[in-house]
Amino acid sequence: MLNLNQKTIKRKVKFVGVGLHTGKKVNLVLVPASPNHGIVFKRTDLKMNNQIDANFENVKEATPLCTTIQNEFGVSVSTTEHLLGALCGEEIDNLLIEIDASELPIMDGSAKNFVKKIREAGIKIYDTSKKYIKVLKKYELRDKKKFIFVEPYENDLIVDFEIVYDNPLIGKQRKEISLLKNDLEEVYNSRTFCLYEDIDKVRKMGLGKGGSLDNAVIVHGDKVLNNKGLRYNNEFVMHKILDCLGDLVLSDYKILGKITCSQGGHKLTNEFLRKFFSDKSNYSIVEFNEKKLPNTVLYNKGLAATA
Ligand SMILES: [Zn+2]
Repeated sequence: MLNLNQKTIKRKVKFVGVGLHTGKKVNLVLVPASPNHGIVFKRTDLKMNNQIDANFENVKEATPLCTTIQNEFGVSVSTTEHLLGALCGEEIDNLLIEIDASELPIMDGSAKNFVKKIREAGIKIYDTSKKYIKVLKKYELRDKKKFIFVEPYENDLIVDFEIVYDNPLIGKQRKEISLLKNDLEEVYNSRTFCLYEDIDKVRKMGLGKGGSLDNAVIVHGDKVLNNKGLRYNNEFVMHKILDCLGDLVLSDYKILGKITCSQGGHKLTNEFLRKFFSDKSNYSIVEFNEKKLPNTVLYNKGLAATA
């Protein structure tokens, strides 16, 4: 869906869970916010300097494992990507995210519960129009075999993602999704994953303390250790798309363009956003007036008959 006006949620939504890396219990509350507020985190366990704007320039550390954003006072929140991926897909523009710990709850490793409760709360649509980032020319970032590039694309965000693993079960997977045309259910439901042989490495880094088979897919050789197996054969690449959407939300306004990424992750996406936005000739900020919309968009919104 492409909506033209800004959105928030109709009422507060609460979650309780544990941080994947800290293993700490965390309470998370999504609070409706006014137009042009944007997406802002608030650390309720701290009294001062506790707000952090969800912006790519605030990304302190984007590791292969998660994204951490931090304000000018050094206050941070980590593992932001799954909730933000849900907000990207559901097109929530304005939200205050209250959290009483330094890491978001991992839930079941996917965005499934976030989306379910957001939909139950309902969406409030404001009269204020929404701004978009229109991609004006192709821009690419490469890091050896990894790459990510964006190209102009009319009135939609397309993400084409590829992963290549030595592992026989994961192997090579590629998937393209359109935010305008596709149901994102499989993207939302796909869980984070880890290779069995990497668990020790992650633990030695002091991370993954809250990780278990209840919130991550563990792959051992050509098998999945989780009792119920995979949710989808391509769950791995689908989850990478969720991560990518969650990191793209940090660009303030939704991007209208086609993103193609191979073997990338949080770090590459963040470097890409920093470089892309550092050159103003790469993009323009646009606001749609419903009457001036191209017919294809009106058609997809079910407005063609009245246009
Ligand atoms: Zn993830």
